[in-house]
Amino acid sequence: VSEERVAVIGSGNWGTVVARIVGRNVKRYADFHPEVKMWVFEELIKGRKLTEIINQQHENVKYLPGFKIPENVVAVPDLLDATRDATSLIFVVPHQFLHDICNQLKGRTHPKAKAISLVKGFNTTDSGIQPMSQVIEDILQLPVCTLSGANIANEIAEERFSETTIGYKFREEGELFKKLLETHYFRIGIVNDVVGVELCGALKNVIAVGAGIIDGLKMGDNTKAAIIRIGVLEMKSFIQRFYKGAKDETFFQSCGLADVITSCYGGRNRRIAEAHVVTGKSFEQLEKELLNGQKLQGPLTAKELNRVLSHKGLEDEYKLFTAIYRIVYEGLPPRKIFDQIV
Ligand code: NAD
Ligand code: 13P
Repeated sequence: VSEERVAVIGSGNWGTVVARIVGRNVKRYADFHPEVKMWVFEELIKGRKLTEIINQQHENVKYLPGFKIPENVVAVPDLLDATRDATSLIFVVPHQFLHDICNQLKGRTHPKAKAISLVKGFNTTDSGIQPMSQVIEDILQLPVCTLSGANIANEIAEERFSETTIGYKFREEGELFKKLLETHYFRIGIVNDVVGVELCGALKNVIAVGAGIIDGLKMGDNTKAAIIRIGVLEMKSFIQRFYKGAKDETFFQSCGLADVITSCYGGRNRRIAEAHVVTGKSFEQLEKELLNGQKLQGPLTAKELNRVLSHKGLEDEYKLFTAIYRIVYEGLPPRKIFDQIV
């Protein structure tokens, strides 16, 4: 019997939640090898290696304190050791690190390896966008699915009912990853749209920064709803302009509207943007002060977005995205957001 061997690449807040789910699921199904390797970007916590803490205490004390990790999930500090045998690779790292990780893995993955990207973000060139699934596919030459949805990690760790979306190119692979990642409290819809799913996940982080700015200004719910509405329109327009294969139904899956809502009310990008307005401190400084090593994706994505919008003369068509970029990077006073979007 050919067994799927699973590696989780990443062990941050979401990465650890996902490793817990996968660790339990591989024990439920005979077609998965019962051990899961989790690549951990090694660091010292009070003089002890994080991998040692995870393997001894079965808890990621830094990124997901208070939740036990199944003992069949083994933390591995070496990227190649973690992934060499794996036929199912789950990428779940902040998007700024993905390129480098893929370069280290180039030519060294298992011949039967396939991947799923849970990464929310993208890179751009002057002429267009480079989705994270494309980065993985181009560098590693293997098929890639995506998973994205209204998924605040800690709520899923607490097993509160949530939904998510898998985007697939080949249905068989979408079904395999659904089996590996679904639980009774974490329900997965699948759509034949790899890139549409992940682009929604990337762009909603920018809208969430906008929502946090409105919260910081204490403008109330009508204003926030307006920002969400404008943001969703810009998100849909941008995706359809730069990625011709996007399906309309994708926007109404968990990865679309639902993730915009959860992120605009509960996410880290929202929280830090609110703190920026209240304290006047930079996003970079607040990330360090308030997130204990967790990473924001919204500000970097706003920058990537602006690169392509400004290069193509499209800033006027994406007024909200542009205003958010200017607030984060050019010191535009947050209250000026309204002058920019009318
Ligand atoms: P995180 O925000 O907790 O980021 C911290 C992780 O980055 C840690 O594992 C840290 O070791 C690692 N890291 C730091 N420096 C690094 C380096 N130089 N190279 C490689 N890794 C390094 O991570 P997360 O919450 O697991 O998020 C991963 C992805 O999942 C992101 O794209 C995020 O948008 C997405 N996501 C997050 C959530 C959530 O609620 N946390 C939910 C859904 C999707
Ligand atoms: P934040 O990164 O803003 O916390 O959003 C998490 C998320 O992706 C929820 O779906």
